[in-house]
Amino acid sequence: MMRCAVCGSDELHYVEELSATLIREWELSAKEAAYVNRQQGLQCVRCGSTLRCMALATALLRHCGGAGTLAEFSASPAAQQLRVLEINEAGGVSPFLAKWPAHVFAQYPDVDMQRLPYPDASFDLVVHSDTLEHVPDPVLGLTECRRVLREGGACVFTVPIIVGRLTRSRAGLAPSYHGEPAKGDAYLVHTEFGADAWTWPLAAGFADCRIVSLEHPAAHALIAVR
Ligand SMILES: [Zn+2]
Repeated sequence: MMRCAVCGSDELHYVEELSATLIREWELSAKEAAYVNRQQGLQCVRCGSTLRCMALATALLRHCGGAGTLAEFSASPAAQQLRVLEINEAGGVSPFLAKWPAHVFAQYPDVDMQRLPYPDASFDLVVHSDTLEHVPDPVLGLTECRRVLREGGACVFTVPIIVGRLTRSRAGLAPSYHGEPAKGDAYLVHTEFGADAWTWPLAAGFADCRIVSLEHPAAHALIAVR
């Protein structure tokens, strides 16, 4: 039975998230649409985390050496020491990171990932979830994430990855948005990540990039170590 990596609940429910418009713009096959829907639509009833956020939590725990759930790790002495920068709200993971005393939150898009207003080497962790695809220059965004990390620190993040193709820029293609334009919370997609998603952190100068799979191909997270 699957348990939520964030809070430990085994009560999950599923809501279809992808619109027909987004599936068409993204040129997803039925199989790809099904796993992206699972990534974004399978949710914990108790804490609201999606499968995507559970993958993020799993990667955070893997990097920090935490056993159990993110909720349990958050209450541990180790978490109390970590200087974490969260860029854009990381879904169900966010309320737990917010409890860490040295947590800094950068509101997206008010804070530009390509020009972070923080000194070099000032964080142990940088966390973002499904935000990098909305940054015009993802290598520059990740270069900034690396700059603000201390040596050995990690950028732990998710992007939606279509595993059977390579990354493409949407420059020159019709605009495509994630979120709901009618509600005013839609963000333009600049990059559609594919099987080579791991090369972006390396291009930004990270020493090491690890892909954590909670459920392949629906739920991956990346750990890029400075
Ligand atoms: Zn949960």
